[in-house]
Amino acid sequence: MTALIRRFVECESPSDDAAAVTRFVELVADTVTPYAKVKTLPGGRFGRILTAEMNLPGRKKSGQVLALGHSDTVWPMGTLRSMPFREADARLWGPGVLDMKAGIAFFLYAVQGLRELDIPAPSRVVLQLNPDEEVGSDASRALTEKNAKQSKAVLVLEPGTGLVGKLKTARKGVGHFAVTVKGRASHAGVDFGAGASAIVELARQIEKIADFTQESRGITVNPGVIAGGTRSNVVAAEARAEIDIRVLRLKDAPALEKRFRALRPFDRRCAIEVAGGLNRPPMERSPGIVKLFRLAQGLGSELGVNLEESLTGGGSDGNFTAALGIPTLDGLGAVGEGAHAANESILKERMADRTALLAKLLASV
Ligand SMILES: [Zn+2]
Repeated sequence: MTALIRRFVECESPSDDAAAVTRFVELVADTVTPYAKVKTLPGGRFGRILTAEMNLPGRKKSGQVLALGHSDTVWPMGTLRSMPFREADARLWGPGVLDMKAGIAFFLYAVQGLRELDIPAPSRVVLQLNPDEEVGSDASRALTEKNAKQSKAVLVLEPGTGLVGKLKTARKGVGHFAVTVKGRASHAGVDFGAGASAIVELARQIEKIADFTQESRGITVNPGVIAGGTRSNVVAAEARAEIDIRVLRLKDAPALEKRFRALRPFDRRCAIEVAGGLNRPPMERSPGIVKLFRLAQGLGSELGVNLEESLTGGGSDGNFTAALGIPTLDGLGAVGEGAHAANESILKERMADRTALLAKLLASV
């Protein structure tokens, strides 16, 4: 398994390099071809999307289970030079090892385990790997939703939460707004009064926007980027902020969007433009999700592992499938830490039980 994870990590696949992602997708395709029906589909300006129907024991299949993952990483080409794959301190390290190349490897080993031990899987099992998950999944979303609608459950191969690897039964919804203020430029010395500063106006708006946060309801609003002005001696004609929003409940999204659209300038000489909205709906902890989690928890205890559940503010493609009402269990991939960070690594001692858990789920759902 370590050798396969190494091959996956050493085949770099940043979202914005379509050729690199497709190379990785072809590596996965070559790996599963002996025991799956593989297809790759165009992913627009991204790499290709992979789907593979696994050839699993058991003569009668009823319904479908979708195993969902992504082939892209946040790491640019060449990261391996400063962050090579390595095995040290009882961990595997490298760009994308946790998020989520190990999770893909675990799934492939789970399938092979069922085949070698001739353990039947009651459902058809389809793997889908998206090339654009780290950048919003615009190109793959429709196919994810189509395949999810044909499935009775979705198993997401994203990493678990924390160094104990909690499963994910809820994820916040994610959105993005851009707020642009148009003011009036003037000479800061000669003609100060004729100007209307877009920067001052935006600063006042940002105070207001930051107050949209309601942590007790699981709503956060983060002005993460600001830009504006040209020179210190010019009253700024334009300024802009980019804001990340997160909601725990879908029903909170329209009211929040309305508050953004209702922003009006304090200084009437300025104008405000608001663009954006919710991108990923929240994955809400539905009865179907809880049932799937309880099943996994029971299977985990057979393996001597105590599985807990968690809520995360981060989104995944599981948000889309859960929002369609399809029971979705997320965080089934590797256990480790440092996703999107220089210390990205997985715990070797948790490779076997995660793989066995996936195999048991495929044999049960
Ligand atoms: Zn991921």
